[in-house]
Amino acid sequence: MNIKYFKRIGLIIHLNLSLPLFETEKVFCFYLERKTRLDGFKIIHLKNCELLPAKKGRKKLGYFEDFETLLESSKERFGKVKLCSQCCRPSADQ
Ligand SMILES: [Zn+2]
Repeated sequence: MNIKYFKRIGLIIHLNLSLPLFETEKVFCFYLERKTRLDGFKIIHLKNCELLPAKKGRKKLGYFEDFETLLESSKERFGKVKLCSQCCRPSADQ
């Protein structure tokens, strides 16, 4: 019984230690427009973008730390995608 108890405490401590680390990481939630644009691309937005379509017209991509990882992963999954010029401004664009 004692061993079980300590195992449980260990798990709780582990969770408590790892959660704040995750929360302080700079990650952003991205969404993909379901509608394909005339040029064949789908647009990726940040969650707080004013051009982001309503719930029905978008798909949640998840959380990414940087545009590179986001683009790579999205291209693999959805083909032709590009970043919204309103909310996503990669530093390479300057
Ligand atoms: Zn946008």
